[in-house]
Amino acid sequence: MTDHATNLAPQIRKVAAQLGFAAIGFSAPVPQPLAIQRATAMIEEHRNGEMHYLETGMEERANPSLLLPGLRTIISTAMCYNFPVDRQAGFPKISKYALIDDYHTVVKSQLEKLLAEIKILVGEPLRALIAVDSSPLLEKNLAEEAGIGKTGKNTLLKVPSAGSYVFLGEILLDREIVSTKLTLPNYCGSCGDCLARCPTGALMESGKIDASKCISYLTTELKREFTAEEAAMIGDWMFGCDLCQEVCPYNQQASIPVNDAFNVRDELLNMSTERVLHLTKSGFRELFYGTPIFRIGLRRLKRNSRAVAKNLEREI
Ligand code: SF4
Ligand code: SF4
Repeated sequence: MTDHATNLAPQIRKVAAQLGFAAIGFSAPVPQPLAIQRATAMIEEHRNGEMHYLETGMEERANPSLLLPGLRTIISTAMCYNFPVDRQAGFPKISKYALIDDYHTVVKSQLEKLLAEIKILVGEPLRALIAVDSSPLLEKNLAEEAGIGKTGKNTLLKVPSAGSYVFLGEILLDREIVSTKLTLPNYCGSCGDCLARCPTGALMESGKIDASKCISYLTTELKREFTAEEAAMIGDWMFGCDLCQEVCPYNQQASIPVNDAFNVRDELLNMSTERVLHLTKSGFRELFYGTPIFRIGLRRLKRNSRAVAKNLEREI
């Protein structure tokens, strides 16, 4: 026997589409032994670099009911940000996701609106938890379980017709909601373009990454100064790295428009290293407040910028 909430998936999907989510799916909390094995191996092999937060919360990853007692359904969502970027040669590069408002804020706000509608649809009090990188969850596996995407060889989730430039977010609910799921194919097939494009060897093999060698990690997560080798590794990337997504054929085909809740900061494109190196604290705040770059602070942005300036000089 099903209760009223169980059959709400079509209505929830409709609201999600109105809010600009590119995909939404529902899954029951089921054990993910393979994903836990992979996450544990990453830590044991020290491929997580200084991201020590990945070493905690393994119990919650294995059993999300610890995050929300009475958990029955995990709603996985994806929001697309594949907007065109006109990068000029000779300027430092900033990853696409950092040229817009911080996704933690935007996706969370859209999920709050979605949850408010779900509460109205359910019509009785419920317990829920919204997560946008804020709780230890195996979000890509949950998204696969919910049938909204497949993880590619570059370790990123690809959503049909939206590609991999997507932000993931979850709502954990203490209500059962069931829905039919798409059986998605393995999109990669014999392609290996991302592995070939990765300039640092961070993509070791299909689906396996050494984050400590990834430009994205080095420029956004690493807190200390670079070694000479690391400084050279980042090339012309001042914040993040999109190379293994740029080459992916599924991002060239993506047809779902960017959610217009994101405000694209054109002024951050093609900004010289010199300008960054001369920024004052207030200038930094003025330019970057509200973007993911603000989180790393001016000292680390200048560290990145100094390294990029040297690397660009070498290229001339
Ligand atoms: S983000 Fe850049 S450095 Fe990291 S795995 Fe992809 S291509 Fe390699
Ligand atoms: S570039 Fe090719 S191998 Fe890599 S994720 Fe995209 S489809 Fe898969």
